[in-house]
Amino acid sequence: MIFKWLFLILLVCLIFWLFKRSGSEQKNSSDTSAEVVENMVRCAYCSVYLPQNESITWSGRSFCCAEHRRLFSQYQQSLHK
Ligand SMILES: [Zn+2]
Repeated sequence: MIFKWLFLILLVCLIFWLFKRSGSEQKNSSDTSAEVVENMVRCAYCSVYLPQNESITWSGRSFCCAEHRRLFSQYQQSLHK
């Protein structure tokens, strides 16, 4: 008899956990996708996409890191020589 009750309690806990988990996952995925659409920029050097708040903006262009900003400016200087 006690096993029957234990099984029922476990089942209720499992259903509750699954509901909570799927609900929070949906919320998280929608939040990140909205953020991605709003703030994604492309590195002018390697064309990788990254969030704008993690990018470096230099002379109207976005870069994924300081190294690519430096390499891009070197590349532009070599074009003008
Ligand atoms: Zn880059």
